[in-house]
Amino acid sequence: MDLDLTPGQEAFRAEARAWLAAHVPPVPPRSLETREGFAEHRAWERTLAAGRWSAVTWPEEYGGRGRSLLEWLVFEEEYHAAGAPARVSQNGVCLLAPALFAHGTEEQRARLLPPMASGATVWAQAWSEPEAGSDLASLRSVAVRERGGWLLRGQKTWSSRAAFADRAFGLFRSHADPGRPPHHGLTYAMFPLDAPGVTVRPLGRLDGKPAFAELFLDDVFVPDADVLGEPGRGWRVAMSTAGDERGLTLRSPGRFLAAARRLVALWRETADPADTALRDRVADVAVRARAYQLYGYGVAARLAAGGALGAEPSMNKLFWSELDLALHETALDLLGPYGELADTAGDAPEGGRWADGYTFALAGPLYAGTNEIQRDIVAERVLGLPKGRGGG
Ligand SMILES: Cc1cc2nc3c(=O)[nH]c(=O)nc-3n(C[C@H](O)[C@H](O)[C@H](O)COP(=O)(O)OP(=O)(O)OC[C@H]3O[C@@H](n4cnc5c(N)ncnc54)[C@H](O)[C@@H]3O)c2cc1C
Repeated sequence: MDLDLTPGQEAFRAEARAWLAAHVPPVPPRSLETREGFAEHRAWERTLAAGRWSAVTWPEEYGGRGRSLLEWLVFEEEYHAAGAPARVSQNGVCLLAPALFAHGTEEQRARLLPPMASGATVWAQAWSEPEAGSDLASLRSVAVRERGGWLLRGQKTWSSRAAFADRAFGLFRSHADPGRPPHHGLTYAMFPLDAPGVTVRPLGRLDGKPAFAELFLDDVFVPDADVLGEPGRGWRVAMSTAGDERGLTLRSPGRFLAAARRLVALWRETADPADTALRDRVADVAVRARAYQLYGYGVAARLAAGGALGAEPSMNKLFWSELDLALHETALDLLGPYGELADTAGDAPEGGRWADGYTFALAGPLYAGTNEIQRDIVAERVLGLPKGRGGG
């Protein structure tokens, strides 16, 4: 196996590194979970798009660079190593865009992708409902046929960044299908968050930041042009989105590699060398981050050779969510009590980055499908074990 990059890929890395060195803001923007921080991150998306770095793998006609998945992994390594801001556009770029490429019409791609790439339209994911999280197919929000489109009714919850986003994509029950499994008869619809009939209510988070929201939909009109895929067959579209969410694209190896490097540097600066237990934990997460990088290269090479993904997204999701927690727990143990200070405290180490990252990492085993459910998928589809708790 040859793990070296080609001269062309190395040149691409150098180009990305030089651009990032010239453009990453020296003072990081405020948290994108706040109104002001959200606007600052949107401005960063515009800068990225102007350099044509906001959607590296998309065709150029939509604002991309037409590069390979492997090159995107390289770009992500450089992006996170440079300390560039978190992507406020990730729901659109990482989740909706792949579904548009796979299931959308040419008209939808031409209309929706360029403003997504430029940061002009920031998307939220509106799947979960109060009674439909793990068992998503039990969702109750409906899409009712109307001339030229659909009327959406119901409630969505746990929608990341929806308080400040522009549009959302969600699943709705559109066809009563008695006797058929619940994932039949669903429709995948996209709608503006300021449309008549939409109420957005921020949900309290552990850190008090207000971007997380629930949505109430009261006869929100969606034209046929904003239905993604065939009406009644939205589950198929949703499952391809879920694969992207759990797979490499939402949480790239570069992100954890950069955090592991920062952790090793923190160990060198602050640790008691006699504390071998803590040293072993630092080494363990650094090795896991490197393993995830190599695994990512393997997946990208296999896909480029015409291979397909199986249950990897579930294994991936288990791996990165546990790695993220271990990275941040180790950092907080290294930093001691000061490590717990949030980004709003003046004397927080590294601007509160580790504490903020820890709070977010706590949610990793939940969002993108809980780890219990991913373990069931791996048990059944990879290991061939019998079905357990019914469902899953
Ligand atoms: C930070 C964060 C961001 C999120 N962002 C979004 C977003 O942007 N858009 C969106 O639509 N949703 C979002 N979610 C929602 C997320 O997808 C759901 O929380 C998740 O799917 C779990 O659903 P639930 O909360 O209803 O828990 P439940 O499904 O009620 O599960 C509760 C517990 O029971 C376990 N459990 C349930 N069923 C089984 C089973 N069959 N076998 C074994 N264990 C089981 C679960 O694993 C979990 O531990 C977000 C959640 C968080 C925490």
